[in-house]
Amino acid sequence: MTRPASIPLPLTSLDALERAGLTDPAERAVLDAVAAEFRVRISPAMAEVASDGVRAQFVPDARELQVVPEELADPIGDDAHRSVPGLTHRYPDRAILHATQTCEVYCRFCFRRETVGESGTLAEVEFDRVVDYLRRTPAVREVIFTGGDPLVLSARRLGAMLDRLEALGTMDLVRFHTRVPVVAPEKVSGALVAALDRALPVWLVVHTNHPDEMTGAAAAALRRLNRAGVPLLSQTVLLRGVNADADTLERLFRVLIRNRVKPYYLHHPDLAKGTGHFRVTLEEGQAIMAALRGRLTGIAQPLYVLDIPGGHGKVPVGPGYLRREGDHWVVTDPQGCEHSYRDL
Ligand SMILES: *Cc1c(COP(=O)(O)O)cnc(C)c1O
Ligand code: SF4
Repeated sequence: MTRPASIPLPLTSLDALERAGLTDPAERAVLDAVAAEFRVRISPAMAEVASDGVRAQFVPDARELQVVPEELADPIGDDAHRSVPGLTHRYPDRAILHATQTCEVYCRFCFRRETVGESGTLAEVEFDRVVDYLRRTPAVREVIFTGGDPLVLSARRLGAMLDRLEALGTMDLVRFHTRVPVVAPEKVSGALVAALDRALPVWLVVHTNHPDEMTGAAAAALRRLNRAGVPLLSQTVLLRGVNADADTLERLFRVLIRNRVKPYYLHHPDLAKGTGHFRVTLEEGQAIMAALRGRLTGIAQPLYVLDIPGGHGKVPVGPGYLRREGDHWVVTDPQGCEHSYRDL
């Protein structure tokens, strides 16, 4: 693929994508049907990266119209655990805050693709209710800002929300799940960094799937956050046609640790509508993780997890290195050889 000219604005329509040379005019009719179903948006930073692994995540594809019955509208059960509007409280010690439904990019595989872009930002009065709930529920020690992408909100709004959470006195930390530092690094402004640099620890989990996403501007944005004392983790979705091989993931995880980001989760793809072409099997995912185990520093190893469809939680899905055999364990080493281990 050729590199488009410098792109000043987000691409939010098929016309804009066509002008940038990202879609084929011959496919327009079918892509119109895709765009009618699932929103389109590519940030300037990502539109300018000439990489198939990056494009496949954001450019609409005719295969999105293939929906199978197992694909659920709420694949991870956000709605099943809604405590107050905007808050999903599934685990006792932490809750997810849906601060906005907007994103800088609309990813073609997103597990919230049915709701992103929809009803805008959490209203002040809704956030008041969230704060009331958290005051009544001091077992919640961590609020996870998600969306959409919470870092599309203004530094002033985020700062005000964080002030309220900090004042509760019950929080261990606040966490952000975001793609902004990578897909729209210019949004990591001085004002935003200042809002996150506070007594209450703010941790940031950056969603990134391919090493080519890490532009110089993205690296600089992560450095600004790191300098402000924000611990950086990553989450990655395992995606066919993007990163579902050990070489690409090794490159991604090495890029991350060079940028002081600790790989946290590798997600098995969710059952979101029209995402079958991205899907891999658990067996393929386990084989990739096993290959990485032997050759990549432990610091760069994420945990491979499955969000059990229906809202039953995330669990590690291997590969397993241990099995019971009579009175002893059989342990598999990174080269695949088996060894006996006995509890004393
Ligand atoms: C993923 C998730 C969390 C966070 O889980 P961690 O394992 O702590 O990263 C919290 N609540 C819900 C509903 C989630 O889906
Ligand atoms: S919520 Fe995250 S994965 Fe979904 S479209 Fe927005 S940025 Fe992409």
